[in-house]
Amino acid sequence: MSMVTEEKRQIALKRAEELKERISDYLEYKKKIPTGFKEWNKIKERQEKIKEIFGASEAEWKDWKWQLRNRINKVETLKKFFNLTPEEKDISLTGSKFRWAVVPYYLSLIDPENPADPVRLQSIPSIEEYFDASGVMDPMAEEFTSPALAVTRRYPDRLIINVTNQCPSYCRHCQRRRNIGEVDRQAPREEIKVALKYIAENEEIRDVLLTGGDALMLSDKTLDWILTELDNIPHVEIKRLGTRAPVTLPYRITGELCQMLSRHLPLYINTHFNHPLEVTPDSRDACWALARCGINLGNQAVLLKGINNHPLLMRNLNQELLKIMVRPYYIFHAKGVRGTRHFRTRVEEGIEIMEQLRGYTSGLAVPTFIVNAPKGYGKTPMLAEYLVSMGANKLLIRTWEKRILEYENDEDI
Ligand SMILES: *Cc1c(COP(=O)(O)O)cnc(C)c1O
Repeated sequence: MSMVTEEKRQIALKRAEELKERISDYLEYKKKIPTGFKEWNKIKERQEKIKEIFGASEAEWKDWKWQLRNRINKVETLKKFFNLTPEEKDISLTGSKFRWAVVPYYLSLIDPENPADPVRLQSIPSIEEYFDASGVMDPMAEEFTSPALAVTRRYPDRLIINVTNQCPSYCRHCQRRRNIGEVDRQAPREEIKVALKYIAENEEIRDVLLTGGDALMLSDKTLDWILTELDNIPHVEIKRLGTRAPVTLPYRITGELCQMLSRHLPLYINTHFNHPLEVTPDSRDACWALARCGINLGNQAVLLKGINNHPLLMRNLNQELLKIMVRPYYIFHAKGVRGTRHFRTRVEEGIEIMEQLRGYTSGLAVPTFIVNAPKGYGKTPMLAEYLVSMGANKLLIRTWEKRILEYENDEDI
């Protein structure tokens, strides 16, 4: 090896040391994060206990309809699993204002010894919801952006069909909780037909998103019907489903469902993982099954105080998601929805999270941080600043490590 090459190698080795140092804090932190994979044995033990209480077989446990029929929504049942905290003990009162229910699978992820368990905070009502007088029920003014029954339209070329208000479990941070009434309501076929007619008559709509509620609460048959109708509209190029089933009810992803969905490509699914604890072997099986059918999976997390408002935790979540073939898509700032104030963070926290993703980890693990503009004016990215200043022929840029460098901006170079 020549001297010059040896010198270059030495420089590269020194740089590699520096790079290792950049993530030493993360490597330490990562060891302590409970993930669904690390906790799986304990989760399985809890599942055995739940099955015993319900007298359920393994086949019933893996049957999504059994899971839905046996949702936990009574204090007495909940008390069999853990002692309620002071914030939880008035659960019936809170429940009278905001509906609650948890499917047994999602409940099994909760560590009963941890009052601040991230799945617990997302699914068990807190009295803070009841006493929250801040915020409004509909901060995105969705009720003013519905040009046709069941449709929400805020963008030029795409829209939402609200197909159901049902979900496997009701998130305590739900931004559409005004739709989650005491009764399950699927949009009747007549309503969906009106939405389909609107899409057929508006040629600029090339992207249709089925959501609610949770799109996978519809039967395979109903979904198949809607997707077929959309396939028959020539200007509809892609279809998307919004569902949290891969997180809260992975058993919904059956072989039959996958087969049916694979007949409707191109199809994209966006799901909603908020914490690495939710990324379990069962979720992986569900996501891989969808991916094998040619379905592209994305994640829309919500930044939630006490659950995932930590840059290193978010880094881990996004890395865990890539392992199960889910591409981080958005992180949403929690809007001012009544009953969710205790989860709200400042916008700066989200920007800090983004700063600690870019460069530190795969670009694939970097979603976009979004604030929803008031009055339904749309998703608005909140970006960390990498352009320091723009001169006539030069930029000042800031790298992920916060190095300030000059960058030529001259077409003749
Ligand atoms: C979020 C949303 C979409 C999809 O937005 P993308 O940025 O394309 O993912 C479409 N319509 C409405 C009404 C929405 O709220």
